[in-house]
Amino acid sequence: MNNEVKENVNNSSLDDADIENKPKFLLMNIMEEIVFLKTKEIIRFDKDACKCEKCLNDICAIVLNSVKPKYATTEVGSLYARALNVDTTEVISISVEIAKAIELVKQRPIH
Ligand SMILES: [Zn+2]
Repeated sequence: MNNEVKENVNNSSLDDADIENKPKFLLMNIMEEIVFLKTKEIIRFDKDACKCEKCLNDICAIVLNSVKPKYATTEVGSLYARALNVDTTEVISISVEIAKAIELVKQRPIH
């Protein structure tokens, strides 16, 4: 019984080390990338919106909590290209959410 437990512990730490040594693929929510890029694009046109790092991240957090996450296995280094592979309808609805979030943060900045 004791041996079994010990073996399991050893195995799991070996697996962890293995993953760290081979960072070839990443599991990521590609919505994070899209929302971040789009927010920076949209907020540029809003003169009254604060563009500090805190507000930008707050806006992204609000949007990401309201859209469905989209997980994908991505090759390290190709995050950007992959993020742009989303259909237009989706991007439009994300943009609407971003506009709403910008208004929210503008009214109640937490910085
Ligand atoms: Zn701010």
